[in-house]
Amino acid sequence: MKILGNRAFRWALLMTGLFAIIALTTMNVLSLYDLRTRMVEGEEERRVDQLDEINDTIRNQIIDPLRGISSIELEGIENSIQHSGQLPDNINEVLTRSAASPFFTDIYFTPDGTDPCIENSQIYRYDPINNQIVLTDQYPKLVCDGVGIARTKTKIQLNDFNYRWNNNFEFDTHRSLNLGLINLNENSLIGTLTLILNEQYIINEVFPPFLNNYFGDSEETGVVVWVRDWADDKILATNDSTVTFNLDIVDHRMRFSGSGFFDNWSLNLAFLESPVSNAYNATLVKNLFVLGFAMLFLTGSLIFMFVTAQRERQLAQTQANFLANVTHELKTPLAVMQAAGENISDGRVTEPKRLKQYGDHIYNESIRLKGMIEKLLDVARVDAGQSLIKAAPYRMQELIMSYLEENRQYIQKKGFEVKFTSSDEKAFALVDKDNIETILSNLTENAIKYSKDDKYIEYQISSNDKYVFLSITDHGVGIPKKEQKNIFKKFYRVENSDTTSSKIKGHGLGLSIVKNMVELNDGTINVKSNPGQGTTFVVRFPKLSHETGQAPTPLDDNDQASDNDNLKQHTEYVG
Ligand code: ADP
Repeated sequence: MKILGNRAFRWALLMTGLFAIIALTTMNVLSLYDLRTRMVEGEEERRVDQLDEINDTIRNQIIDPLRGISSIELEGIENSIQHSGQLPDNINEVLTRSAASPFFTDIYFTPDGTDPCIENSQIYRYDPINNQIVLTDQYPKLVCDGVGIARTKTKIQLNDFNYRWNNNFEFDTHRSLNLGLINLNENSLIGTLTLILNEQYIINEVFPPFLNNYFGDSEETGVVVWVRDWADDKILATNDSTVTFNLDIVDHRMRFSGSGFFDNWSLNLAFLESPVSNAYNATLVKNLFVLGFAMLFLTGSLIFMFVTAQRERQLAQTQANFLANVTHELKTPLAVMQAAGENISDGRVTEPKRLKQYGDHIYNESIRLKGMIEKLLDVARVDAGQSLIKAAPYRMQELIMSYLEENRQYIQKKGFEVKFTSSDEKAFALVDKDNIETILSNLTENAIKYSKDDKYIEYQISSNDKYVFLSITDHGVGIPKKEQKNIFKKFYRVENSDTTSSKIKGHGLGLSIVKNMVELNDGTINVKSNPGQGTTFVVRFPKLSHETGQAPTPLDDNDQASDNDNLKQHTEYVG
């Protein structure tokens, strides 16, 4: 119940963690997109503001030479004209400045009461060379045909001359600037100055640098601006003549603002693929990439931690089971020995035949106990990295043959057919003889344990230029493909219906010891297996050349004894 609760809790934690990662990532992606939209919108607003700036700057530049007129007392104009036929000097100064401005071509003064629309009327023209006004009936039609003077007058009158300033100006579209001069004392109109605008200058000299400065090359800025005469349907200026004007692609259209200022013209702005949005897209992609990577990394770490925790739990469980098994395995022979020993020491068993029986029991169980302990010590040594080897050149075939000599009978007793083949009798390898025996005995034990009806074990020796191969084949239950990479892990046992640990005794240590010993001897071990057909373990050691190799050292008495022990340990352990 508690384990179940723990597991559910861990899963819940994993899910919460994953959910948090997904939620955080989604939030980040959304805010990145939001930021991008705002950036692009902000950039577009900035561009529209620039149109306003152009409007104001040009208008100010046009009006600039006329500044100062408001501080002049205009009441003297009528007198001056009456007496000298000229404007007062201070007005002339303003007119000189204005005549010098490239925005104007001509300046006319129409006194109130004169109607320039009547043919042959005489109005004044400012002559900048002589700095005087001269009466003329040769003036352009636009002094009258437009709305300039009429509108200026009307506006002043509508306002009932209620002006703080002594003048009021009005543009007649892009053609003229008209300045109504007001006698503030008498609330009357003195006359109108008509400054003819230099249309070609404005179109050819003013707009292009403005548009280029503000909007540059559309390929870089992503913006195209057109100044368009909508009344004539004509494009006057643009920052990119390669893009054809089309109302459909115009994102923002603006009339020039001011009293009548460039009334027939409009500013049109189109956003192509803006580099800001392009740049931002690139950043967005980078950000998304980093985010994706971070998310994958976080998810990976989370899953890794989860799986590791799960594994550690399994390992702890396996070790606990192992300990329980080991304790049981150690206790059983001890109990037998204790009982037998007790019976003998009590003097209850005196009959020689039974005494021998009890002695055999004690001997066999002690052998079994020793085997167990040795195996455990092997594991402990492997764990502590303390395994030392006594490597010497051995002829592989002889090592196998000596092993088989000792064990063939035992294996056959178990009902197995034993076969041994060798394609290289002289193959030498630098190995530890005891290690080889342990390897052979473990692999043999397994072949016996995991075989059913087809009881067959084949030992084989072969070689190539570099290696000696030793293989052990059985016709047993086999090992599923997906398990093959795990079987060499400590405590790992294949859990299937044929080989569940409950059915066949074992602790999942044999192959881990084998692998370790093979590697200590500079070798490798591989498994080939088909479930239901059998298994072959192939052990490979570096081959010694025949010349440097030497025959295996003959066994001395101790070796012999220990081999006998091995055999018995083998026998008992498998039991
Ligand atoms: P065990 O004490 O379980 O035998 P081992 O480390 O020797 O431990 O083996 C690990 C697992 O590999 C075994 O549980 C068994 O499932 C599988 N195995 C090992 N050798 C063989 C074999 N010859 N045939 C089938 N399965 C085998």
